[in-house]
Order: sequence, then structure tokens, then C-alpha cells
Amino acid sequence: MTSTNATTTTGRVGTPLDYDAIVIGAGFAGLRMLHELRERGVTARAFEEAPEVGGTWYWNTYPGAHTDSQSWIYAYSFSKELQEEWNWSERYTPQPEVLAYLKHVADRFDLRKDIQFSTRVTSAVFDESADVWRVTTDLGDEVTSRYVITAVGALSAPYEPEFPGLDEFTGECYLTARWPQEEVDFAGKRVAVIGAGATAVQLIPLVAHTAAHLTVFQRTPNYVLPARNGVLPKEQLEGIRAKYADIWEQARDQVFGFAMDPAGRTMKDVSAQEAHRILEWGWEIGGFHFVFETFDDLVVDQESNEVVSEFIRTKIRSIVTDPATADLLCPDYPFFGKRPPLGHYYYETYNRDNVELVDVSSEPISCLTHSGVRVGDQEYAADIVIIATGFDAVTGSIERMDIRGRGGRSVGERWADAPTAYLGTAIDGFPNLFTMFGPGTPFANAPVVVEDVSQWIADAIVHLREQGLSTIEANRDAAGEWTELLNTIVNATVVPQGVHNYLLGDNIPGKTHAPLFFLGGVKPYRDALQAAAKDGYRGFTLDLQLHG
Ligand code: NAP
Repeated sequence: MTSTNATTTTGRVGTPLDYDAIVIGAGFAGLRMLHELRERGVTARAFEEAPEVGGTWYWNTYPGAHTDSQSWIYAYSFSKELQEEWNWSERYTPQPEVLAYLKHVADRFDLRKDIQFSTRVTSAVFDESADVWRVTTDLGDEVTSRYVITAVGALSAPYEPEFPGLDEFTGECYLTARWPQEEVDFAGKRVAVIGAGATAVQLIPLVAHTAAHLTVFQRTPNYVLPARNGVLPKEQLEGIRAKYADIWEQARDQVFGFAMDPAGRTMKDVSAQEAHRILEWGWEIGGFHFVFETFDDLVVDQESNEVVSEFIRTKIRSIVTDPATADLLCPDYPFFGKRPPLGHYYYETYNRDNVELVDVSSEPISCLTHSGVRVGDQEYAADIVIIATGFDAVTGSIERMDIRGRGGRSVGERWADAPTAYLGTAIDGFPNLFTMFGPGTPFANAPVVVEDVSQWIADAIVHLREQGLSTIEANRDAAGEWTELLNTIVNATVVPQGVHNYLLGDNIPGKTHAPLFFLGGVKPYRDALQAAAKDGYRGFTLDLQLHG
């Protein structure tokens, strides 16, 4: 836990540097990275825009915010003591508890002393003459480091469509990804929710309880799986603790980083009746068990997928009593064509008298007025408008900073054709820049990926230090091959058949259509990272002896 073997921090030509590494962000990834660097005696400073640790779990305080991963694997695995002492209260962790956990981690491992809060990194420019990064912040800091590590999250840059008339709306207006820290009172109010993704799905049932009227504006329906949340009894938690090592092993090997076993069968292996029984089992167990422990081919086989898609549509029609509303809630693209949200009595909410679903798929929201939301000729009165329109995934949070590599070229310029990062962590032309959750990182339970990536980056930095090298840089060919692999894998799934899919950049008007995540699984990704390192950092160029 203490810093040992601290390096003498100098640039290539002997100029003293402020830090070995700058970490941008102090959420799940940034905290873990900071700890890992400190363990290896690498001096680091983290800059965090928020006044507190937590990243997405600091900002997304909207009602109902929960993890969609089971609490005991939405955590760090590096400290046995931490695992022993922390108590989860529910099967899926509520946002305040995730935030409390991350605060606890920051305190327990004394990480705060290396974090500068309420500070946004505005630019990071690589000085090729000295192999040094020059980082500036909105508070006027100017610091130098050998490495920069972005830990800004894959789903953290909010996307807010430019609705005409937004400024004219006289009621309260909230963006879910920047929810106020104070409680918002919906009692007796007419509330409009724009969006029907994972965020809205969590928020809607809770708002419906107290609002006088709730209008949901849905452009594309989702396949919402029942989460089946509940209190985590002490006995169950103790049972989990007793086999924590096995649970983590299982999660590390599972395709999406969940502690689940493959089903070991495809749809064609069983009769239609047996398939139905298995899907009923998955629906009752809830959460992503439905995806990963029923049939192994439902994301890659059209026929299997259609059985599952129709199973869910039938469920929707059996829950939602008004047939027209049920129809609107039934997706017509394949299951997993968009990331399915987990719901907490989501479909049931549409049976309430005070809840109304408005389809904006063919007639979009035309504007906000001083008193509500207009769709075509129809105006929907609202006292509160909630905008739950998602994120500029993966690239958004990186491109919002002015990061410049060789020749003064920005990341945005490098990604003009397609976003690419070798192994999700390194961009050619940007020596000594590591992206945690850059394009091409697994789409999976994030904490499992964070454990792998943070250790790999720290190992790479130590390797350079031990070899007296000053730069590591992805080769363009290697990055291109990684991107090709992302394409091959995504095209073997039903994912491209979804609509406005953020996995492919399709939710943001004008954004390049390209896979932003590696869908090949957590273990193959880890194997690829480790193989590259073992093979002398294959696909990278390691360069230049340090002087002085
Ligand atoms: P999202 O899934 O991208 O949903 C955004 C919603 O806004 C969609 O329904 C979208 O419709 C709608 N929308 C966008 N522009 C619109 C417009 N101009 N008019 C009307 N509707 C519009 O975003 P999200 O719900 O924030 O979730 C994103 C991801 O964040 C999730 O998939 C998940 O990975 C993560 N997340 C996780 C949790 C959790 O684990 N508990 C919770 C929340 C979010 P279209 O579908 O038609 O584009």
C-alpha cells in the first residue's frame, strides 16, 4: 500500500517532470489505476472534474439508479480485506451505496492525497522533443508527466439532443447524467421523460409513484429484462464471501465478466417446449442470467434469437394490459440488437392510470414550449422534463479534451475515419498515452475489465522503467488489425441489427458508424493483452534510451 522504489522522474533529455503519470478521472477505473501505480512506485496525480470520487456514480444520482451487475461482482477484487469488510445491501447495488463504496476505497487506500478534485483536464499535449506530456486544467494547472492515462469512463459524456425551445420551458428540467445532488420532488407534478434506455427504465417506475402524471416519450423500445432485485440477506452475503475467490474466477472467464456459467446448449439442442421452460427459468431468475445461462447462441443465431425475442414480446403483452401500449413497447429488432436494460417493475408501470406512453419513432419531438413538450400538433403539458438520452459512448469523453500526439495531431483527427485503439488502450501517434475504456475494450461488467487493464498498464510502465526506455506507442498496423477483429466479431452477432445503437456510435447524429467495444469476451481480451506483453509488447514500438 505504500510507495516504494519511486522513480527519478525526468524527461528524455533529463528535464525534471512533475509526475511519472497523470490519471484523468477518479471513478472506478481511475481509483484502481492510481492504486496500482502507487503499488509499483510510480508517482501519479489524478485530476477529477467532480468534487468527489465516483465518476459516473457521482453524477448519476437520478432516482432508481442501480448497478445492472450483481453487487458482489461490481467491486474490486484486488484486496481480500476490502472484500471481507464491505457489506452489500441488495442484489443490485443502489447508486448511493456504490458511491459510498468508492469513497471507502479512496479513504482506505489513502488515494485522496493524489487526487485534485473539481479540476477538469482541458488539454494534454505530447512534446516530442522531450517525450513528455504537458497537461493543463481549467484551473490553470500546467504539469508534466511521462504518461497520461485516461480513466474517463465509456458511458460518461452525456448526450443531450438540441431540442428547439429548451430555453423557453419554464418548468424544471433535469439531465439524468447531471442530476442534482438534492432530492427532486415529483409529488403532484406532471413529469415528462424523454428516452427509454437503461437510465429511463430505472427512473420511470419510481417517478410514477409520486408524479400526478407521467408522460414517457419513447423513440425505440427496448427488451427490458426483469432484474429481480431484493435485499441481500446476511446469510447469502456470508455464503458469497466464503467462495469469493471462485466467484471472481468465474467472472474473469465469463464472456461479459459476470459470475455465470455458459448454458452448454443451443436452442437447437432442445425441443420447443423445453426451450420455453428454460426461458421461463431465466425470466424468473432475472437479470443477465436470462442472456447467458439459457442458450449460448441467442446473440449469434437468428432463429434462436427470434425465439427469445418473441418470448419477451409475449411477456410484455401478458404484463401490459392496454394492447396498443404493449405493441409500442415491443421491439421489432432482434434481442440484444441494443443492450437490454434491467427493469424493476418497468412494464407493470404502464398499467398505472397516471402513466402515458408517447411514440416518437415516426413523429419526433418537435420542440419544448414554455409549458411542455410538443410532438407534431400535440402538446404534452409538463412541470418537470427529464432528459434521459444517453451518452456519447467511449470516444465522447476522450475527445472532449484536447489531446494531441505526434505532430500536434488531435485524437479527433486520428479518429476521423474510425475510432481505433490497439487493445482498447493505445492510439498510434500518441506515445505513452493509455486509454482505459478506449475503443476496443470489452463490453462487459466494467470492474472486471478495470482489474485487467490497470494491471497491464502499470506493468507496461514498470517494464519501460526497468528497460530504461522512454516511450511505448501502438503501431498503426496493430491498431488496424484490432479494429478489424472488432468488426469481424460484431458482424457475427445480431448487434448491427439494432437501431440507434451506441455500441456502434449510431445514437449520436453524425458520429462515425464503427464498433466501439470488443465483443469477444473478457478472457480472450485478457489473453490478448498478456500475449502482447509476453511477446515483448508485440504491436507496440518501445523506444529511446533515457538520458540523465
Ligand atoms: P441509451 O440506452 O442510449 O438511451 C437513450 C434513450 O434516449 C433512448 O431511448 C433513445 O432513443 C432516446 N433518445 C435519444 N435521442 C432522442 C431524441 N432526440 N428523441 C427522443 N428520444 C431520444 O442511454 P442510457 O439509458 O443512459 O443508457 C446507456 C447505457 O448506460 C446503458 O446501456 C448501460 O450500459 C449504461 N447504464 C447502466 C446502468 C446500470 O448498469 N444500472 C444504468 C443506466 C445506464 P433511441 O433508442 O431511439 O436512440
